[in-house]
Amino acid sequence: MTKGEEIYQIAERLFPLDRSITGEGNRETLRILQEYDSDLKIIEVPSGTEVFDWTVPKEWRVNEAYIENSKGERIVDFADNNLCLLGYSYSMDEKLSKDQMKEFVFTLDSQPDLIPYTTSYYKERRGFCMSKNSFDALPEDTYHLYIDADHFDGSLSIGELVIPGETNEEIFIPTYICHPSMANDNISGPALLIKLAEYIKALPKRRYTYRLVLHPETIGAITYISLRLEELKKNVIAGFNLTCVGDDNDYSLVHSPYADTLADKVLANVLKYVKTDFSEYSFLDRGSDERQYCSPKVGLPLVCFCRSKFGEYPEYHTSADDMSYVSSTGFQGAYDVMTKVIDALEYNKKYSVKVTCEVQLGKRDLIPTFSQKGTYDAIYSITRFLAYADGKNDLIDISNIIGVPVSELIQVVKQLEEKDIFE
Ligand code: ZN
Repeated sequence: MTKGEEIYQIAERLFPLDRSITGEGNRETLRILQEYDSDLKIIEVPSGTEVFDWTVPKEWRVNEAYIENSKGERIVDFADNNLCLLGYSYSMDEKLSKDQMKEFVFTLDSQPDLIPYTTSYYKERRGFCMSKNSFDALPEDTYHLYIDADHFDGSLSIGELVIPGETNEEIFIPTYICHPSMANDNISGPALLIKLAEYIKALPKRRYTYRLVLHPETIGAITYISLRLEELKKNVIAGFNLTCVGDDNDYSLVHSPYADTLADKVLANVLKYVKTDFSEYSFLDRGSDERQYCSPKVGLPLVCFCRSKFGEYPEYHTSADDMSYVSSTGFQGAYDVMTKVIDALEYNKKYSVKVTCEVQLGKRDLIPTFSQKGTYDAIYSITRFLAYADGKNDLIDISNIIGVPVSELIQVVKQLEEKDIFE
């Protein structure tokens, strides 16, 4: 089974759970991920906790929610599809005409065959979500709109996995858990994240500490920052927010505010060799938790990595962002990008050759048997790399200058290190 297929299977298990900003569905999501990595810790932060300008919300539990016609037939039922209920909806119990019902049923005029994903976290609302076509097809009747939901003092759940390395310097990889029954824009991130943990743990040597975190978007990121601000600011050297990483379409990089961090540099470099026409977005196009992690008082060197960027694909925030929109090849592509990013960071430093004039490759047996020749000629990779190993450029700079992917240069570095060529 490929890594992409394994990630797809995890995503399939997570997909239907009743996630929201708080609640049992989030905990269940984290518990399933713990089956893949038992070091994943679950942190609970009580409702009502003040986190900077915000407050941890009450927990939300849906006991039952449906719309019934006058014959008692269920038109929509939360038990069948949790997208049918407005996220965080309050309770209601009303019998209404079709026209009166409109106030409580959210549809999408521009995509009439799809159910919109709709939430109301910070204003008390109640209601259901339906495709416009199904709503329009309903006959005149008296409909029973019934929602039995509790909002109570509970907690907000955060998953945290810290994998120690040789230094305290950290690579930070957050993602979110808050959308029910949404594939690319939600469970793709957690499913990829847990497989990255496996990859990181299997590295023969780990220079950096890795911090992998899952929480609901926005309030979860703010809450996590409130718990860990000082250590994040002190230790994180590069961060990658994962969102929408399971489809087969684009690769996207949402830059940090000034597009000038190590995270910007390494992801742009890796993507350039994976797909020359990947999409780059400015921080002005931010939308996920880079909003919090790059905010002025936090200022982490973090970018956002997506395949199709949130908001840029038609299936986004609709019932069409389901398991058929993501694929094992889509996941595999994102996995390959992120593992290349990790490898690049692990080997990224300034290399200085200690030989004066060109290195005599022949007498050192530096025959290029270590690399499969493809588009890059291995001997040129060595000589060109050495030409710029002057202590001024790190590995990513050299890759950008000489047009060879870092993954190939890592093989060059390993070979040259064995021959003790660097200062
Ligand atoms: Zn979303």
